[in-house]
Amino acid sequence: MTATRLDGRRIAEQMKQALQQEAAALHPRPSLRVLYFDTKVSQLYWLVQQQTAAALDIDVGGGLSRSECLPSNATQPQVDEVIRRWNDDSAVHGIFVHQPLPPGVDPQRVSALIDPRKDVEGIHPQNSARRFFARARIGSCTALAVMRLIEETQEPVEGKEAVVVGHSEIVGRPVSMLLLDKLATTTVCHIGTRHLEDHIRRADLLVVAVGQPELIKGRWIKPGATVIDVGINVAGGRVVGDVEFDEATARAKFISPVPGGVGPVTVMMVMKNTIEAYKLQHQQPSHESS
Ligand code: NAD
Repeated sequence: MTATRLDGRRIAEQMKQALQQEAAALHPRPSLRVLYFDTKVSQLYWLVQQQTAAALDIDVGGGLSRSECLPSNATQPQVDEVIRRWNDDSAVHGIFVHQPLPPGVDPQRVSALIDPRKDVEGIHPQNSARRFFARARIGSCTALAVMRLIEETQEPVEGKEAVVVGHSEIVGRPVSMLLLDKLATTTVCHIGTRHLEDHIRRADLLVVAVGQPELIKGRWIKPGATVIDVGINVAGGRVVGDVEFDEATARAKFISPVPGGVGPVTVMMVMKNTIEAYKLQHQQPSHESS
């Protein structure tokens, strides 16, 4: 068997066309502010976000209120100041803070500080709680991208053995919630999991978000499985995922490549969430946050 590749770039292009129409109907135009850091990875990701926003006519800068770059050793008060300023600015509809954060900056504090109605990553505790009760208004952008790729297979999720490797707040946990909502029998593996291979071998649906190049061996993949690789790693001078791609392709039915799988869809989901956040703020102009 040779797996069908789930082409994230093509899906992102489809989403772009739909979002372009939606954004064009909004006045004033939606605005997203990105806090990024003076590192190579963060600068590169900012460039991609800027280009994507421009294609949708989503405003990411200009004037007094614009996206900002802080040094890679920025402090908590510096990060807090930028977020508070954007929270208080009614012309800003969405806020996105790049991770990893500088050493000493607390990710949980950052998630909790962003106005939940402007939280385009869906990481504020209120948005996480809503996800827990399957009532999310703004979903986690990476988890939504994973679900969009799974949808592309047109295979039912209900009743499947789903295994998520990674239990982070921005990927593993939200993905596992969304899979539960779809009635998959969901197992979450992590750094404390014993016999990881045994879990992988019985997965009909495998989502991996660890950040270790080719941690998951192709020979572990159940024949006919769907494999979604969220990992982004640089190894041997090239970008690779967390799954041994060629070997897994020989066994899976569907597989998402790295690069070109989850990544482009996640970037587009940030833009989609910016439009959702805009609508939320225009429906509820008061600073209500329930
Ligand atoms: P994280 O560092 O917060 O979490 C890593 C997770 O992997 C943890 O749950 C940890 O318990 C688990 N883990 C570590 N070693 C393990 C092992 N040996 N066996 C099993 N589990 C193990 O990472 P994150 O923020 O969730 O990101 C994970 C990866 O996904 C990274 O490569 C990141 O760059 C990538 N990512 C991609 C996108 C995208 O849009 N494509 C978005 C977010 C993150």
